[in-house]
Amino acid sequence: MSNQNHLPQNLPEAIDRQQILEEASAVARHLRDAGVQWLPTADPRQVKTWRERFESTGASPNTTPEEQPRSAATTVTGNDKVSFAEPSQNVSATGSNTHTEGNIHASYSGKSLPIDQRHACLTGLAKQVANCEKCPNLASKRNKTVFGEGSVSPRVVFFGEAPGADEDRSGRPFVGAAGQLLTKMIEACKFDRSDVYILNTIKCRPPNNRNPEQEEKSNCREYYQIQIDTLRPEYIICLGAVAAQELLQSKASVGSLRGRFHRYHDSKVLVTYHPAYLLREPTRKKAAWQDLQMMLRDAKIDF
Ligand code: URA
Repeated sequence: MSNQNHLPQNLPEAIDRQQILEEASAVARHLRDAGVQWLPTADPRQVKTWRERFESTGASPNTTPEEQPRSAATTVTGNDKVSFAEPSQNVSATGSNTHTEGNIHASYSGKSLPIDQRHACLTGLAKQVANCEKCPNLASKRNKTVFGEGSVSPRVVFFGEAPGADEDRSGRPFVGAAGQLLTKMIEACKFDRSDVYILNTIKCRPPNNRNPEQEEKSNCREYYQIQIDTLRPEYIICLGAVAAQELLQSKASVGSLRGRFHRYHDSKVLVTYHPAYLLREPTRKKAAWQDLQMMLRDAKIDF
């Protein structure tokens, strides 16, 4: 950020290059302090929009991290607009995060949490989930709850259906045959499993791997909502119809939801086939890879 050469040469004269560099450095420091590990690739038009929005919030390079609007560079909406939510105190003394509810097209509410508070929030929630008995039928039959795992500042979250037998035994999501395919899909995107976060619509294995029932999804909804609200990823990939219909509160099929970005608060949502389905129907793998490529192109990730 200290090298003037990083600035596009064709910026209008009226823009003070030194000021931009100072502002960019201040924002970069803030993002680093907040634990952000990735940045969207910026082109000059985005930098201009960012600068305008940055100024319209009243933030200045001298503003302390606590005074900054939350996750400035990460709230990029589907239209490439950068939006800032008003900071609000959403963290309790125990580090838990009151979560964004309601209209999935509205921004995430409150502040993006720093890394240590994300860990604290998710660890506390995982303990709560491990003792959950909201669905007595599932709770009485489970070996382990499957909370979810991965980076607490992921660029991409994978959202699956429900734990199967392998996951119920291990307490970890997507570790069976479908999980091995999911790992390959993640690696094809040039990510490591530990770079992303993986979770399901419900935390307990449904008997005989049946689909989760409506009541089970409702009972578990708050858990994944808090998880995603804490993680605030740029992309959420829904794996299969159960995940997509639950997250987007839609009745549409995977076929009709594929091929375009949807939105869950500030995250872009992509729908693709469930890896278990791809194991049964390998001819659909090409289509699933096209879905992932759409995300990679949007994210400006080389593949
Ligand atoms: N299928 C899912 O949807 N989730 C898992 O965790 C494993 C298999």
